[in-house]
Amino acid sequence: MRIGYGYDVHRFEKDGPLILGGVEIPFEKSLAGHSDADVLLHAITDALLGACALGDLGKHFPDTSEDYEDIDSRVLLRDALALVEEKGFAVGNIDTTIVAEKPRLAPYIDEMRQVIARDLRVDIDQVSVKATTSEGMGFEGRIEGISARAVVLLVES
Ligand SMILES: [Zn+2]
Repeated sequence: MRIGYGYDVHRFEKDGPLILGGVEIPFEKSLAGHSDADVLLHAITDALLGACALGDLGKHFPDTSEDYEDIDSRVLLRDALALVEEKGFAVGNIDTTIVAEKPRLAPYIDEMRQVIARDLRVDIDQVSVKATTSEGMGFEGRIEGISARAVVLLVES
């Protein structure tokens, strides 16, 4: 068994929609980034790589590369899973937290879980997505950006 942890943060830009957990969410702002800036999928991808001590997202998918410009972060997630599988592991379960003051994410959580479960080839009950606010404090609270944290447990396949 291996455990991995991932953290990511992206700042808001002007126009929406917002992409979180592979789901398009109607909102007046989107997240800025070289890819589609899906902060949740980036945290999970980082956790997968971390569990295998393979470095981080930036090492595997450099934001200086044109290959990854505006890329769908689901592609990065699936690429990271392939690396995990090469090492002889499969996902046991993942647990994640998104910290966002706005928008309200509850209506989209199950759809995110479904997308992530499909990409990681696990059942939806192996994927936990939680969302919280920071009670108005810090950059999330000032609606300057969104952060996400993920923990993943890998099992021998
Ligand atoms: Zn990111």
